[in-house]
Amino acid sequence: MSNLVEGATGRWEVVIGLEVHAQVISQSKLFSGAATAFGAAANSQVSLVDAGMPGMLPVINEVAVEQAVRSGLGLNAKINTYSVFDRKNYFYADLPQGYQISQYLQPIVGEGVITVDLEDGSSRDIGVERLHLEQDAGKSIHDRHPTKTHVDLNRSGVALMEIVSKPDMRSAEEAGAYVRKVRAILRYLGTCDGNMEEGSMRADVNVSVRHPGDELGTRAEIKNVNSIRFMQQAIHYETSRQIDILEDGGSIDQETRLFDSQTGTTRPMRSKEEAHDYRYFPDPDLLPLEFSDEFVDGIRATLPELPDAKKKRYMAELGLSEHDAQVLVSERDIAVFFEEVATGREAKVAANWVQGDFFALLGKAELEVADSPISAAQLGGLIDLITDGTISGKIAKDVLETMFESGQDASVIVEEKGLKQVSDTGAIEGEIDKVIAANADKVAEFRGGKDKVLGWFVGQIMQATKGKANPQMVNQLLREKLKP
Ligand code: ADP
Ligand code: MG
Repeated sequence: MSNLVEGATGRWEVVIGLEVHAQVISQSKLFSGAATAFGAAANSQVSLVDAGMPGMLPVINEVAVEQAVRSGLGLNAKINTYSVFDRKNYFYADLPQGYQISQYLQPIVGEGVITVDLEDGSSRDIGVERLHLEQDAGKSIHDRHPTKTHVDLNRSGVALMEIVSKPDMRSAEEAGAYVRKVRAILRYLGTCDGNMEEGSMRADVNVSVRHPGDELGTRAEIKNVNSIRFMQQAIHYETSRQIDILEDGGSIDQETRLFDSQTGTTRPMRSKEEAHDYRYFPDPDLLPLEFSDEFVDGIRATLPELPDAKKKRYMAELGLSEHDAQVLVSERDIAVFFEEVATGREAKVAANWVQGDFFALLGKAELEVADSPISAAQLGGLIDLITDGTISGKIAKDVLETMFESGQDASVIVEEKGLKQVSDTGAIEGEIDKVIAANADKVAEFRGGKDKVLGWFVGQIMQATKGKANPQMVNQLLREKLKP
């Protein structure tokens, strides 16, 4: 395996397990009616429950339960119709209850599996251990005052899904692909917006190393990593740190570490707590969560087509290559855009334009599909102009760039700039005659059997017509006129 790291004492394998915290899309919090909108004024979305006031009672938000079940189904996981909320006790200034309501021994979702897609086109199945519902904590803000810490409780009580993987990943690439896939699935399902910059998705990254075939090594857990790039940096750093220690005859402490994005390193935060440190016990304010199979079936009936199924369909029904299909299903927004462009058009052509020139322009402008300055309908309109022969494919590339800058329709740009393809035989013949008359030597070369010279002639005509001559016609007419 290419993922192994060469060391002085032999080859090392890195083992990775991820705990992904995904914020549930829901108007209100897990156990209170307070709002969850991002960016609201500090402490403006806090109910008495979220503030941990004595005597307040939590009430489960049914939408959050539906979202967890929906996510579980999307992760091909077992749904537990009976689950239990537990108190996980610890002290933080931004955790006013003094405990987090979470799920421990009986989570709402059990084992599942996610197929991750790797760079080289291969895919691997990664096991999911569980998905459970829990409350988020508030946020301590240390940079507003020289000596004081501010606390914002807007996040306090927001519903999170913690998705715990099995220790099945063997490289930073696989870990990145896993998070990307989880994020894509949740976005397709509409259960988490997956926005890592806003903190709606983050991961605890568990890393250990071992010689292949050995038992699992002791892991370090890197807390709260909020970008895929950081996660991969942290894995690389942790891998070499642990190998160095072990090769020097040392041993790894099971500990919680922090990633420092400035230096790309990790440093110890605290020694790893054990489950018993939290004194988990069933929350006496909440009954066990029970729902029927019909409830689950009702949710199952509304699941959208997910990326793996979509990919298969694109290949089987639209005739796309595996690579094209993979790229186009990788994010819901891309798939929606592509499908609109492809409707009523040649799928392969639509696929080429979307992931070719269109993606290149998006990339250059550092934009996501959702922020594209042109709509799918507009890109479709451009393709129509090529299909009906109004413009050549080459001119269309320039038109697309102008569309991107101006947001105008292709037809408007073609009209204004006079880019219509010249398919008028007379006009093209006129240009050909001129070039032939002026280049007797080239004509002789061609007639003498040098077929390549035809390309030179085509180039001349295209230049003379500013790229607007219909290339097939130019070819055909040239061959006729150059015949000895
Ligand atoms: P905790 O809350 O103590 O972190 P969890 O069960 O929630 O425990 O999560 C443990 C995570 O660590 C899982 O994702 C699991 O796959 C991963 N893991 C367990 N053992 C190892 C190991 N030896 N190396 C790497 N990852 C591991
Ligand atoms: Mg953990």
